[in-house]
Amino acid sequence: MKIAVTRETRDGESRVAMVPELVEKLTALGYEVAVEPDAGRAAQFADDEYVDAGATVDDSALDGADLVVSVQPLPTETIRRLPKGTATISFLPTSQEEDVVRDLRDCGITSFAMEFVPRISRAQSMDALSSQALVAGYRCAIVAAGMLRRFFPLSMTAAGTVQPATVVVLGAGVAGLQAIATAKRLGAVVQAYDVRAAAAEEIASMGAKPIDLELDTLEGAGGYAREMTEDRAAKQRELLAPYIAEADALITTAAVPGRRAPMLVTREMVEQMKPGSVVVDLAAETGGNVEGSEPGEVVRIGNAQVWGGRNVPSQMPGPASRLYAQNIVNLVELMTDKGQETDEENEGRPAAFAPDFDDEVVVGACVTREGSIVHDGTREAIEGPQPAETTREGENQ
Ligand code: NAD
Repeated sequence: MKIAVTRETRDGESRVAMVPELVEKLTALGYEVAVEPDAGRAAQFADDEYVDAGATVDDSALDGADLVVSVQPLPTETIRRLPKGTATISFLPTSQEEDVVRDLRDCGITSFAMEFVPRISRAQSMDALSSQALVAGYRCAIVAAGMLRRFFPLSMTAAGTVQPATVVVLGAGVAGLQAIATAKRLGAVVQAYDVRAAAAEEIASMGAKPIDLELDTLEGAGGYAREMTEDRAAKQRELLAPYIAEADALITTAAVPGRRAPMLVTREMVEQMKPGSVVVDLAAETGGNVEGSEPGEVVRIGNAQVWGGRNVPSQMPGPASRLYAQNIVNLVELMTDKGQETDEENEGRPAAFAPDFDDEVVVGACVTREGSIVHDGTREAIEGPQPAETTREGENQ
């Protein structure tokens, strides 16, 4: 059985889906691992390191592969040359990639989306949204510290005392908590706000001060946030304004699954910030938490420099790839029939890539299979609602 690792081709993508250090985990499961030349180059992994780890590196890596792993969805021309029944694992934001999903369906590819791996405790080690959010959160705090022309920590020196910077973090999910922890480690005074009930305790556990706006919490399905009404959003903005005006750095990481990022900070609120202040908007790519932020750009609003995130995990491609590759290894292991280990009668039978579609993690992550879109939300978005089942003759209507 062969697993192919592609060289990413999308603009701005520096990560790679497998790192040399983890190749051995796949070969130990019985797979042959084939890597496209220069696949790891942008993440500082050389072809030789893959070869030393037991992989082959050549242009025909995809030929005869049973499974193709990548970070971004595969390009159309690659999908179209894969034989029917080939499996793919990648990020696959289906609402933005409808054409890719149609191609995967029409080519009979069994595709799995890392975004759809259920966030249950058994699948935590396969949760690439969390692993990449961790990288993004860290990076946001470092960017804020780097852009701010003053110290994060309190410094008491013979020449006098330098006051610490004040950092406000909005959204305290995986990325926000990592941004808080990093800013705290750098010595800033950190305050944070999130709409979820559990957030205040999580913020405090990172050593930051939860901002209490005395508004109702907004808990949705699965412990995620719910979308705000416009009234509530306006009230939240009004109550947050003084905290933001006082901040030296503002980091925003708020998101609501499946929706545009909530607009938490207006241009007017940023204009109230002090000279030299910095805003880092991790959500810039998905609509922006801050009015006027631009993905991949630094714009000036009032006195503040506003940095908009664009594929932020890819800005730290080494560790982001390492974590993503471990998520992939864990998912592949779940989908591997370990052959001789599990079947005495067939002793010596090699391991096989054999996803068990009765497993909720496998079925949850699957987008297309055997020529159909099997992920309900994606199918409905692309093909429309399922027609009502036709009633057989003679049955009650
Ligand atoms: P996310 O990226 O969807 O959202 C980021 C944060 O933004 C969330 O904490 C959300 O509450 C917050 N937010 C949304 N609207 C907001 C608003 N108007 N104002 C302020 N904040 C707002 O979330 P995430 O980081 O993927 O995770 C969110 C939750 O899921 C957390 O409770 C996390 O612990 C949990 N989680 C569980 C698992 C698991 O069980 N395997 C894995 C990852 C995350």
